[in-house]
Amino acid sequence: MNRSAVFRRSFRKDFPTAVRGEGVYLWDAAGQKYLDLSGSAAVNFIGHGVPEISAAMAEQASKLEFVHTSQFTTTVAEEYAQELLAFAGESFRSGAVYFTSGGSESIETALKLARQYQVEIGQSRRYQILSRKQSYHGSTLGALSVSGNKRRREIYLPMVREFPHVGMPYCYRCAFDCTDGCRNCGQEYAAELERAIDTTNGEAAAFIFEPLSGATLGAVVPPPGYLQTVVEICRRHGVLLIADEVMTGMGRTGRNFAVDHWFDKSGLGQGGTVAPDIIVAAKGLSSGYAPLGAVIASNKVIDAIAAGSGAFLHGFTYNAHPISLAAGRAVVRHLQAKKLVEAADSSRPGTVAAGFKKALEALRDSDPPTGVIGDVRGLGLLWAVEFVADKKSKQPFAPELNFAALIGAAAMKRGLVVYPMQGCVDGVSGDHLLLAPPAVITPDEITWATEQLRQSIDEAASALP
Ligand code: PLP
Repeated sequence: MNRSAVFRRSFRKDFPTAVRGEGVYLWDAAGQKYLDLSGSAAVNFIGHGVPEISAAMAEQASKLEFVHTSQFTTTVAEEYAQELLAFAGESFRSGAVYFTSGGSESIETALKLARQYQVEIGQSRRYQILSRKQSYHGSTLGALSVSGNKRRREIYLPMVREFPHVGMPYCYRCAFDCTDGCRNCGQEYAAELERAIDTTNGEAAAFIFEPLSGATLGAVVPPPGYLQTVVEICRRHGVLLIADEVMTGMGRTGRNFAVDHWFDKSGLGQGGTVAPDIIVAAKGLSSGYAPLGAVIASNKVIDAIAAGSGAFLHGFTYNAHPISLAAGRAVVRHLQAKKLVEAADSSRPGTVAAGFKKALEALRDSDPPTGVIGDVRGLGLLWAVEFVADKKSKQPFAPELNFAALIGAAAMKRGLVVYPMQGCVDGVSGDHLLLAPPAVITPDEITWATEQLRQSIDEAASALP
């Protein structure tokens, strides 16, 4: 038992005291240096300790630390919202941004916004929010109700409202035949959504999804055509589309938002365009410099409220906190000036993201048939390595072995921070690591980090009973 006055995440684990961060590195109070290969929890995208971000926060704090959004707006909020709408692209022109203090608050906001939108347009029967199994949308009860992360929601189930959860394409362990390059399986999963919408008898308000699955499944990229069909189904049924880009947004996957990978810029709609009605952002939005989340809503949604009742029935005291917004505005300007979204594009030759992809694939390919690396997947600078007890059958390790956590601990000892997760197979078993380094990582740092990762995997595997 490890007691502290701080109610920490675990009473069973030791936590080093972090004292400093710079670039991809963190230091603890004992002087140990760590390479942050997970960007904390896919939070930090621009690197730690960027002086201009703290300077922007300090400047804002010295001028005006806080006003309540029921009484004032601020210059930083107005400017930053404009910049974010432009960053979100064409589909958000004339939309508006609702600022919160993090991912879960933003998800709650988006769910209520979807409901109010439906009421404003005369669809007051619509209140159900459909989502996917093995997803994660946050810890608050509303966000938990739409999440599919079994472990994180299990004991709270009696307290949450349940809506339909549909299957999520996870082609390493697909329920369908993937031999056609996953074209058919994507359509099967999309058809499941349509059937679920039908079962709500006209009560479906919105569908929420992570464009790439985040922590729960670990960076699973959707099969071709899947998201386009999902969009088409939602439009046809009057169901709003909420893209949860808390983890994938703000450049992490090599596009401003991950949905941009499937946005048809030709405007011809060929193959369908994935343009959600609402995008939720957090994590990379402030890169961790301040608590910040945003709900970026399209003109269609905002117009319905502006022309209808005229006010959103929702609010937090710390909406649009000026110091957090100063951090967020400085972060988006910084990542644009430094071309970090481009650096995070793993399909662009010569980028650090392309180098990271190559290094992880080499790690997988050099793992012997008797080894433990089952799958390496991801996009941009959001990757996962899934571990198996048997490569041929893809049998996972027994969950009580806590294999991912063993690797995480072995990596920490070597000065490497990764994000271990369990439950990718069925919500309980299945081990993977989420890897999401800041976009300022260098090729040499990638080489060092993947070598430490290999050694950590070997150490954990040889400690198995
Ligand atoms: N949505 C996704 C996809 C996430 O990954 C997370 C957090 O990991 C959340 C929502 C919740 O965000 P927060 O932890 O900031 O409340």
